[in-house]
Amino acid sequence: MQSTTLKGKTALITGSTSGIGLGIAKALAAQGAHIVFNGFGDAREIARLQADVAREYDVKTIYHNADMSKPAEIEAMMRAAADHLGGVDILVNNAGIQHVANVEDFPVEKWDAIIAINLTSAFHTTRLALPQMKTRNWGRIINIASAHGLVGSAQKSAYVAAKHGIVGFTKVTALETAQSGITCNAICPGWVLTPLVQKQVDARAAQGGISNEEAKKGLLAEKQPSGEFVTPEQLGALAVFLCSAAANQVRGAAWNMDGGWVAQ
Ligand code: NAD
Repeated sequence: MQSTTLKGKTALITGSTSGIGLGIAKALAAQGAHIVFNGFGDAREIARLQADVAREYDVKTIYHNADMSKPAEIEAMMRAAADHLGGVDILVNNAGIQHVANVEDFPVEKWDAIIAINLTSAFHTTRLALPQMKTRNWGRIINIASAHGLVGSAQKSAYVAAKHGIVGFTKVTALETAQSGITCNAICPGWVLTPLVQKQVDARAAQGGISNEEAKKGLLAEKQPSGEFVTPEQLGALAVFLCSAAANQVRGAAWNMDGGWVAQ
């Protein structure tokens, strides 16, 4: 079943084959937006996902396998969105990876990959999407930052640097588009139980010799006062709000949805 608030718009969500990106893609499709999927995964599963979303919400879907660390592939993806779906009205920069280590032990190639995927890719998609958004005088750019875009945590130097960076990039993009129908905002989730976080739960369980459930509780207890995970569906609903006319004057925000994480 679909609603129609975004009917006729096209949304491109990077890293939408899993987790938060997939939750946001489904929420936007449910409002009638055509979807450009991107991200890694099993080709057959991705084709099924694409078909399921198209059928369930009566929208068009395409998939592009651009590696978000490669500018030439990002350019090809943006061209494909223009060729097949008429361009990108809603851009959600979501693809991201994590690596956990002290600064002095942080592998240089992991640092470079995290900065490229979690930060620089958003510069490329944004610079390529803006000209058409300006022509139409309408656009929504939503950057998926993190509570780590607002505060730090030990052993996450590259991730925290990239996420603080994307919050800054969001502000500049919002200022440059302030007198137009284009808005740019960041969403800053706390812990969401996706494959990215499950890896950290697994590491914690292995290190402490504790169960998966205990490791999850411990992870939440450290940072997230609510003691509960944020869900991709809740983040999808926030993205839908940011795409609505009610959010026309929400510009340059770093909107935390984090169970109270950054209120501490
Ligand atoms: P996830 O691992 O479930 O999904 C990540 C997505 O990015 C996948 O579709 C993956 O294929 C894609 N991806 C990874 N590297 C890519 C590349 N080089 N090119 C193209 N696609 C690539 O993770 P998630 O938790 O859903 O994370 C999504 C975003 O949300 C990330 O930016 C992450 O930093 C952010 N975030 C997550 C949490 C959390 O608790 N899970 C909290 C705050 C912010």
